[in-house]
Order: sequence, then structure tokens, then C-alpha cells
Amino acid sequence: MVSTDLLSEQKYAEQNRARIIRRLPPKLVAKEEGLLPIFQKSKRKPLRKLELLFEFMDELHGAIRPYLPCKKGCSLCCHNQAIDVTELEIAFIEQETPHRRQATLGPTPGPRQPCPFLMENVCSIYEARPFLCRRHTVLTQTSHWCHPDRANAEEFPLLGFTEVDRAMGLILSESGNASPTDIRVIFAASGATGN
Ligand code: SF4
Repeated sequence: MVSTDLLSEQKYAEQNRARIIRRLPPKLVAKEEGLLPIFQKSKRKPLRKLELLFEFMDELHGAIRPYLPCKKGCSLCCHNQAIDVTELEIAFIEQETPHRRQATLGPTPGPRQPCPFLMENVCSIYEARPFLCRRHTVLTQTSHWCHPDRANAEEFPLLGFTEVDRAMGLILSESGNASPTDIRVIFAASGATGN
């Protein structure tokens, strides 16, 4: 039976995390462990490095997806989380999609304001989505605790992406601008019509 009870879900998430770590393909683990030195040695531009990191994250996500309750059409986290993007991620969205940042910053997003790229509960820039969206993983059995009424109210075990985080930190520091701004402020009205 699927449980929404807090303690049961926390226990499930803990077990799920252990299961994922146990079952991750060794090649993928080794690849993550080697990420930072590769990016440190690389002379590529930060935007290209971001692209390569996102490709690896897609690969990683492919391996853990079967263990997550996340699925197309569930967009709770596109409403209730801070959706921070850096200059590099904005440039990546502009490179990969027709969307452009608006000339002036939009207002601070209100509670539960959806991401401007959310269209009929689906991310319309999925291939270009920011780091936080790629990194967000839910280990509970259902999305019950992702609901805006409950999100962030309780703590759940999380997956660590230590080397991914370190690689992103390096890329951002090389880009010269790691300041985050909410995606709803950057793309609030002008570019993100999504259609
Ligand atoms: S960019 Fe896509 S995945 Fe990220 S919050 Fe917006 S709609 Fe959701």
C-alpha cells in the first residue's frame, strides 16, 4: 500500500536512497568521481562545460529515474521551489531555445507562482532546463510531499551529487558570475511565452 505517512515516507526514502546507491552502474559512479579533474583540465568555454555537465546529469538521471515518483505531468516542484538560475544557465536557455530574457527584471515571484516555462504541467524547455531542475530528485514513494502545502515542511533523505555539485561550482566560478536569480524574474513575461 502506498503511504503518505511522514515516518513511513522518510523510511522509504532512506531505503530508496541506499538502493539507488547500491545499484548505480559502477561506470557511472566512476564517471562522476572523475568529473572535476576533467573539467579542471579542460580549456573549453564555461557554456560548453555546462552543456557537457548537463549531458552527464541526463545520463545519471536516466539511471535513477526508475526509483523516483517523478513523471511527466507532475509539476509540483515547478511551483513551490526557488527556481534559481545563473547567467550561464540563462545563456544556455537562450542558446537552446527561442526564449530571451526580458529587458527588465520581473517582480519577485509570489507563493506558488508557476515557472513561466511550465506549459500544461510539462516543462517546455526540458532539454535546456536549469541545473536545479536537473538536480532535484524526490526519493519518497509518491509526490504527496512535493505539494506546495507540504513541500519543505519536513525533511527527507536526499541523494548527494557531490562531484556534480563541485563541477558546477567550478564552471560557475570560471564563468565569472555565479549570482542566482529566480527564473520567474528573468523570464517572467517577455520571452517565456513557450508557444
Ligand atoms: S524550467 Fe522546466 S523543470 Fe524547471 S521549474 Fe521551469 S518548468 Fe519546471
